[in-house]
Amino acid sequence: MALLDIVTYPAPILDKPSEIIENIDDSIICLIQDMTETLYDAPGIGLAAVQVGHNKAMLLYDVAEDEDSPGTGLKVLINPRIVHTEGKVCSENEGCLSVPGLRADVPRHACVSVEGVDHEGKPVKIDAEGLLSIVLQHEIDHLEGRLFIERISSLKRNMYKRRVQKALKEEG
Ligand SMILES: [Zn+2]
Repeated sequence: MALLDIVTYPAPILDKPSEIIENIDDSIICLIQDMTETLYDAPGIGLAAVQVGHNKAMLLYDVAEDEDSPGTGLKVLINPRIVHTEGKVCSENEGCLSVPGLRADVPRHACVSVEGVDHEGKPVKIDAEGLLSIVLQHEIDHLEGRLFIERISSLKRNMYKRRVQKALKEEG
């Protein structure tokens, strides 16, 4: 296993839709292992393949709140899509490993139903609410080439973009 570098805004790959995975071959299994290590190292609760530079429709998440046995709630979702949404909610202080240094309130669906396949290619359907619903919407946004800053106020978004530009300039 290997730790992968997390791609951050404004890397162009983050704007690209991810490709459907046709075969869960060894390279995908290896990527799942590396992403798992990277997710827990970060630490984060969700990670899309595009965030580690792979334009593949796959995401990992672990929203288990069992602090005594961390790393036991890992789930892999391949080719996920939202098939149903219900209600509206404000996701407070949402953040993203690819958008370091920013947290913001994001309007989200309260509940979502998601279909996809797991790491063995078996169909899965998840009816999610609460934190899991938010994480799934956030990660599926990544697979569609969308960052959460595109869902916040333009004022906040532009402030963040200027801050990043300035930091990049200072780095030379
Ligand atoms: Zn993210």
